[in-house]
Amino acid sequence: MRSEVVAAMMPVFTEHFGNASSIHWFGQQAKALMDEARQHVARLVNAETSEIVLLSGGTEADNLAIRGIAESQNAKGRHIITSRIEHHAVLHTCKDLEKQGYEVTWLPVSRDGLVEPDDVRAALRPDTILISIMHANNEIGTIQPIEEIGRIAEEADVYFHSDGVQSTGKIPVDVRKLQVDLFSISSHKIHGPKGVGALFVKKGTILKPIMTGGGHERNRRSGTENVAGIVGFGEAARFALEGLKTEMPRVRELRDRLEAELKAKIEHLHVNGENAPRLPNTSNIMVDYAEGEGLVISLDLKGVAVSTGSACSSGSLEPSHVLIAIGKTPDEAHGSLRFSLSSMATAEDIE
Ligand code: PLP
Repeated sequence: MRSEVVAAMMPVFTEHFGNASSIHWFGQQAKALMDEARQHVARLVNAETSEIVLLSGGTEADNLAIRGIAESQNAKGRHIITSRIEHHAVLHTCKDLEKQGYEVTWLPVSRDGLVEPDDVRAALRPDTILISIMHANNEIGTIQPIEEIGRIAEEADVYFHSDGVQSTGKIPVDVRKLQVDLFSISSHKIHGPKGVGALFVKKGTILKPIMTGGGHERNRRSGTENVAGIVGFGEAARFALEGLKTEMPRVRELRDRLEAELKAKIEHLHVNGENAPRLPNTSNIMVDYAEGEGLVISLDLKGVAVSTGSACSSGSLEPSHVLIAIGKTPDEAHGSLRFSLSSMATAEDIE
């Protein structure tokens, strides 16, 4: 976390500890802090504050978007379109819906990890209720043509969700321009605390809540709000918006230098997704004949923290579904490493 984020959160634990739903002064003070944080999150993606639902992170945001639409729209249809390279929060949610009788079209991607908008158009059916395509991939960083897909969804009058957990704060995000109805965001990807996130829900979207209870968050997500976490998230969002112009170009330079030097020094090394538009901070490299887990351990001993596949599925022997989807063999996928640079990365780190 950024030191400024920690500093903003501390007084919420010690002084402004009210429940934001309470009408007394302590409660109202907490609510004011939460409202300010919501504004920062909204500004980061060009949403209105009333369109930001605060919740426990990217996984919940994806679940609320997909299950919320599935349940509210099942009288119209039960068909969902998504891609084969989504995060497990989307993938497993859609698989679960398949078991409940929904039909899912799993779109393939190119060798660089891109969804073809024409494939989305071709997959549309009269009973399609939702398109869910991630903005940027968490393993290889490729950025999908969301604006184009958004236009297709708009024309077809089908709800469009995009998982923006990786893109938010790394590249400019404008939910209006992207034409999304739902957009997932997570705080810990932008130097905020873990366990907090948001779902952008465009005004007028009909969504059935998955958490029922006291009717918090305009009835979209019940449960006493994690005020300290939300305040930290807001502060992180404020810095992330500024950092788009100042920090991210520097991060991109560092990432490019890392890749250039690795390629120059190590034979049989490739960068996955290299030819597609990519996030500035992500690098997925593949070393022929090498074994990823071994590389992770060797690098860890040198104080370099990297992953094979996505962090959440590390430890599993299954090859990354993303790398398989872009045409890698299981052996090749096992020789892959993901480097994620933070906005605090330095030239020395790259050395
Ligand atoms: N979606 C993507 C693309 C992610 O990278 C992640 C986190 O790793 C998530 C969703 C889940 O977010 P969270 O960890 O906040 O639940």
